Formats: sequence, C-alpha cells, structure tokens
Amino acid sequence: MPFFLFLAVFFFLFSLQTPCFYGFLLFTTERHNTTQAMTTIYPISEQKRKFLHELPKCEHHVHLEGTLSPDLLFTLAKRNNIELPAHFPSSIELCNDRYEKFTDLQDFLDHYYIGMSVLMTESDFEDLAWDYFVKAKHDGLHHAETFFDPQGHVERGIPIETVVNGFHRASQRAQAELGISTKLIMCLLRHLPSQDGLKTINDAKQFYQDGIIHGLGLDSSEKPFPPELFEECYALAKKNCPEIGLTAHAGEEADPSFISNSLDLLKVTRIDHGVQSYRDDELLKRLAKDKVMLSLCPLSNVKLQVVSDVGELPLRKWLDYGVPFSINSDDPAYFGGYLLDNYLAVESRFNLKPEEWVQITKNSVDGSWIDAARKKQLHDEIDRVHAKYRDVLV
Ligand SMILES: [Zn+2]
Repeated sequence: MPFFLFLAVFFFLFSLQTPCFYGFLLFTTERHNTTQAMTTIYPISEQKRKFLHELPKCEHHVHLEGTLSPDLLFTLAKRNNIELPAHFPSSIELCNDRYEKFTDLQDFLDHYYIGMSVLMTESDFEDLAWDYFVKAKHDGLHHAETFFDPQGHVERGIPIETVVNGFHRASQRAQAELGISTKLIMCLLRHLPSQDGLKTINDAKQFYQDGIIHGLGLDSSEKPFPPELFEECYALAKKNCPEIGLTAHAGEEADPSFISNSLDLLKVTRIDHGVQSYRDDELLKRLAKDKVMLSLCPLSNVKLQVVSDVGELPLRKWLDYGVPFSINSDDPAYFGGYLLDNYLAVESRFNLKPEEWVQITKNSVDGSWIDAARKKQLHDEIDRVHAKYRDVLV
C-alpha cells in the first residue's frame, strides 16, 4: 500500500489500541516471514472426501460463542427483544455476506461482540451449543472440548451460572442424543486484568469441583498480554482443582517464547494455535518429545491473516518433527468453515496420505482429555474407517 496510507492506518489503529492494531502489525510485519506459500491446490476425489468425512474427529479449539450462526443470532435477538445496532446487517443473507468480508481482527470482533449480546438466558446458551453439536456431528465429530468466555457475559450482567448451566445442558444432550463425548474449557480473556481472572476462577470453583467444567484456557488478543501475566491464575485453578486440564492460546501471532512460557509458567499440556513454533527447532523437538498437541485452526489463520493461504502453514515440518496436532474450526460461524471444511482445506493443500490422516486423527484422540477406554474406542473406529477405504484410496 502507499506509504502515506500505511502511516494513516497505523496511527488510526494505534489510537484505538485494539486487537485490530496488533492484528495489523502482524499483517504488515510477520505474514511475509512465514514459510513460503504452497499455492498448489490438489483436487479431492469423492472417495477421499467420504473418507475424511467419516474419519472420527475430535475438536479441541472451538469457541462456543464463535459458533453463533446468523440464523440463530436473529432468532435470539427476536426472542429477547434485542435491537441490533443500525450498522449491523439487517438480515441473515446480509450477515452471511458481511462475514465474508472481514477486513481485520477488529472488524471480526465488532461483529462477534454484537453477536454475544443476544445471549441472555440459560436456554439461549443451550441452543447455541446444541446448534454447534448438531452441525459438527454431521462433520464426523466424536469428541469435543469446547471453549467459552464467561467474562464476556458477566461484564454485561449475565450470571456465570446462566452461561455454564446452559452450555452444560447442551453438552449432556450431545452425549445422550448424539454420542459425542464433551468437556467444557473456561477461557480467561487476556486483555482483562489478571485480578478479574482470579475472581472468575474462584467464581467457577464449584463447577470445576463438580466436574462440570474440565479445563482452563486463555484467549483474546495475544501479543500485548504474555502468559506470565496469568501465572497466578493458572496456579490458583490447579490448586482449586488438581485434575484440571490446562491449555492456552500461544504462538498464533506472538513469537515462540509465548509457547515456551505457557509450558513453563502456566504448566499447560496443550497449545492452542502454536503456529509460530516452526521458528524454533528446539521447541519443536520439545513439543514432539513431550507430546504437546497443537490445536490448529487453518481457516481461522487465513481469515485473521496469520497466513495468506492454508498451504503456507508449516504442516510438513510438524509432521516431520512428530509434533502432534489436531485440526479445528475456532469461530466457525464467522470464519467460513466448520470442522470438515478445515479438514478439506488441509487436504486440498497438502494432499496427505490416508495413513497420515490416520496418524493425525489418532494424535488428536491421544491429546484429548478423555480416559483410556474412550481413546481405545475412538482409535478402533478410526481403524475401521481406514480399513473401509484403504483399497479405494491407492
Ligand atoms: Zn481460538
């Protein structure tokens, strides 16, 4: 872009001090440093598509608030008599159209937070999560560990109990009616003070101890808010509930030290995104040796300009180093793709062998916070699907 325009945009975004500003910095300074673009697009045969569809999938990186489809958004706005702002698209079609044209992270977040404002009652939260589980079931989802952001609701006057009870009800229904095993992961918003995080962890203590919430995560804009700010929060959560699963968004846009520090200081056993790990060979070896799974979100990375194409993701490097990863949808209602869309996007850029897909999905099972019996069940199911397609996918 012309230099004067660059300066104008820079100072405008700097004045806002929003995640958009940091996303803009990422766009202008880092995207060109990622691995060289692999723009080859491989056709996907009908048999390969069926194979990928049927492969049992686990999802570890989906924000329930990010699954709010325009359809449900307008339904809930009407149910709760909420008048959407004048600048918000006025119909489902216009909404779908607008979501195709996010200009940056802040543009997405503006719509995302307006979307959240229609969630008021326990039933709203239940309907939201149920809608996701039904869609994901069609994509071959067998196990889901879902994120939610209680602070984003509490700060607008919705009690944490309303949020958790609604999501828990939908999770129980998903297990009973769809055969999907589930875990809830509460995320802290890293742009809020850690004191607020400590309060939220204590407010949720009983849910952890009752086994209703299983994990703790860390999300929102990354670079200005490094993991060390939340060391006390993670220690408190572990003290309140020793069996808790710990994860954090790290290395989506920030450098690999955010990943190392999340492992060392927050004691997480999983990393959400972790794209930038490819810059540090020692870190890659560590992730492989300790079986720290990365929860990748390919289509999200393109929408938020971490890479300009799914083919730029260093997938080959992770496979070569033996770094386990799972493939996920992040905020699927906003990023133009649910779980299977992300699998297909990866396949279309990397043309993976069926055996590699088996390994990826088995790693995804092994990185899940489920017991050995459930893991074996899912491994067996992956082997069954592989055997079904082995001979036709030569
Ligand atoms: Zn995320």
